[in-house]
Amino acid sequence: MRTDQPSSPGLILIVDDEAVNRLILESNLKRQEFQTHSVASGRECLEAVQKLKPDLILLDIIMPEMDGFQTCRALKAAAQTRDVPVIFLSALTDADIKTKGFEAGGVDYVSKPFDTRELLARVRTHLTLRNQEIQLRGYSEKLEEMVNERTSKLKRAEQELQRNYDMQTALNRLLRLTLQDLPLEELLQHCLESLLNISWLTLQDRGCIYLREDESTGFRIVAQRNLSQQLLEKCANIAAGECACGKALAEQRIVVIQDDDPTHTQSGFGEEEAHSNVCIPIASAHGNLGMLNLFMHRDSRLTSQESAFFGAVSNTLMQMILYKRAEERMLHHVLHEPLTNLPNRTALLDALHREVQRSHEADDHRFALILVNLDRFNRFNESLGYDLGDKLILSSVRRIRDVHKTEQGVFHLGGDGFAFLVRDVPEDADALLLVERILDDLRQPHQLDGHEIQTSASAGIVYSDTRYSRGEDLLRDADIALHLAKSKGRGRFQVFSHVMHEKARQSMQTFMDLRQALQRKEFVLFYQPIVSLQTGATTGVEALIRWQHPERGMVSPAEFIPLAEETGLILPMGRWVLQTACSDLCDMARNANISEPFMVSVNLSGKQFAQPDLYEQVEAILQGTGFPPECLKLEITESVVMDNAEEATRILERLKKLNIKISIDDFGTGYSSLSYLHRFSADILKVDRSFVSRMHLGGENLEIIRTIVTLAQALKMQVIAEGVETRDELSALASLNCDYAQGFYFAKPMPLDQLQRTALRDITQGLGPLFLERREGSTDRRKSTGRRSTDC
Ligand code: C2E
Ligand code: CA
Ligand code: CA
Repeated sequence: MRTDQPSSPGLILIVDDEAVNRLILESNLKRQEFQTHSVASGRECLEAVQKLKPDLILLDIIMPEMDGFQTCRALKAAAQTRDVPVIFLSALTDADIKTKGFEAGGVDYVSKPFDTRELLARVRTHLTLRNQEIQLRGYSEKLEEMVNERTSKLKRAEQELQRNYDMQTALNRLLRLTLQDLPLEELLQHCLESLLNISWLTLQDRGCIYLREDESTGFRIVAQRNLSQQLLEKCANIAAGECACGKALAEQRIVVIQDDDPTHTQSGFGEEEAHSNVCIPIASAHGNLGMLNLFMHRDSRLTSQESAFFGAVSNTLMQMILYKRAEERMLHHVLHEPLTNLPNRTALLDALHREVQRSHEADDHRFALILVNLDRFNRFNESLGYDLGDKLILSSVRRIRDVHKTEQGVFHLGGDGFAFLVRDVPEDADALLLVERILDDLRQPHQLDGHEIQTSASAGIVYSDTRYSRGEDLLRDADIALHLAKSKGRGRFQVFSHVMHEKARQSMQTFMDLRQALQRKEFVLFYQPIVSLQTGATTGVEALIRWQHPERGMVSPAEFIPLAEETGLILPMGRWVLQTACSDLCDMARNANISEPFMVSVNLSGKQFAQPDLYEQVEAILQGTGFPPECLKLEITESVVMDNAEEATRILERLKKLNIKISIDDFGTGYSSLSYLHRFSADILKVDRSFVSRMHLGGENLEIIRTIVTLAQALKMQVIAEGVETRDELSALASLNCDYAQGFYFAKPMPLDQLQRTALRDITQGLGPLFLERREGSTDRRKSTGRRSTDC
């Protein structure tokens, strides 16, 4: 087929057996600038057509051998010549002949003899037609070409789009996995499986993911699919740069390795199916996090698209790992104590919650919660510093680990508080044995920074029972038991009972009532006289607080002082007591018209004593009320001063600068080392009531009082015996040379107005010092100690 344009005006092949006809035609056509070629037979025509590729053939019909029709049919039969238009030349005018000519494939007919104009017109028309046809065919061919080209481009684009879509889908699937609330390793396993499932990658259904645990270690398989046992053992851990896969890590690029690569650890595994590995490092800006290792069919190569896809996969996995690690760190932070790295209170509550649920599901599931608290840790912290305090905690944790081998179930609740969750406790005794061992171990001295530190710990235990539905309640009850253990002395444990809960509930109620009482000014002070055994005169009083409860009436301090102490309410309460006592006694002196008020003893609890601004408080109250300092006595119990004798000595020395007196209360009840006594700047020892009340039994109790009096004399201290109830006790005390006495025998604690009335009455009736008459008969047995009786 000729697709090129005919050269204008065109080459015309003349086929006629008569030379004259050929000549006429040639000359006519040439004159019109046509090119011509003439042949004399059909056969010659068929040959020339092949060679010359004419634009038009003028073909005579009647010729020897092969006539025009035969020639035309032959031309039309060949693909190469089919399109060349044929115009028949004939003298025959028969319509039949014309029809035959058209049937044979001719396009027109020119009669002989030739009419030149007709000939040229027909030739031109057919050449033009042919030109247009050729042009048209050219256009349509081009069009077709263009369509084909566009179609294949489209197809390619479509394929690319499909691949992009597939990749994006695969990446999205990975991203969706990230959102699942699963541990990192489980997530990576899902990711691996999701990747191996991608049909358009030429993968074998095997592979693994390595992760780096921390900076110092190598990479460990954390997710795998279909790896042989042999392979899992050999390649469980790899290091960057050390094997063929490690090379990918070292170079931080995707590497494809054939299984027969000599540097490949996996090579030489007889039973392994032939494969190659694509090693895809997973790296963040700070280095390698891990590696994805996929098995491909042997000799596979990565297309650039696949490489880009694996790059994106690596990126997605990197983000997943970083995100999960950050999440894990955050969770760890939320659930652990930073100092000890042990699970904290939140973690304990979670664990308790699970245990409570289990115990509701299975009747025989029992567990115990043990709270352990170091004794006097705060004081230790304050005196030796927080740094050493931290070391003590860490040293205690090591002890606990030694006892409780497994770290599971050990919680650090902050400060010096620890908890043990003992699961599956068949016998209550099991938990008790554990507690005993823990407390024993914590009693052993710690060697810290050259100090030998002796501590003890207390514990509270609660056993699970179906009454509990919340972990918080178990924690609360173990705490109640712990508090009780502490209040009974150090180094003990206490098992919780539901009676305790009721008591604790009442304490809570009392605490709230107390706070309100303080605001509503429901507290009053009573005063109990203190009598000199030398003169029989009342020389002072002890201020004792009472709570005028709107419903319960007068409430004894024994019921609320310990709670006020524990909750810190004692601080505002104590300030109020000191302030009121000083101003009450000033008022009383004014009313009774005596120049100097009575001595007043005010009790100070441990917490009050430990206040850093105690000195300033006392000073301000003395100044504010105008109460003479030498008439104020602060009573501090023996146990409070002995708890931290060094610190107490310092505080007492400072207080003494105010020119006030210090009295050691409840003396004899503590484990007081007498050797310390001389170091305290105390003025008075108050013998505890328990000795006085058992004095009549003679023996030891009497001897104790005698020793105390002797000791006090040696240390130039005065002695007050408290709780004197009988005349016999009074006589015995006087015979022991005790200086002062206080007790129901003389008077019970009384409100200020009563104290004032009695004092005034006695003075106006000329009875002299208060309650003197009570002591008659004992005076003669008294021996003078040579000390001023007006001191108390
Ligand atoms: P305490 O300091 O040992 O006070 C003496 C307690 O013995 C008082 O009890 C008093 O009423 C009682 N008492 C006095 N003579 C006798 C007696 O002959 N026989 C008997 N059986 N008891 C006698 P009270 O007033 O109930 O106070 C109890 C404790 O409460 C006090 O013991 C003291 O430790 C504390 N307390 C009282 N008031 C205050 C205060 O204002 N501040 C502080 N921090 N503690 C206070
Ligand atoms: Ca007292
Ligand atoms: Ca006492």
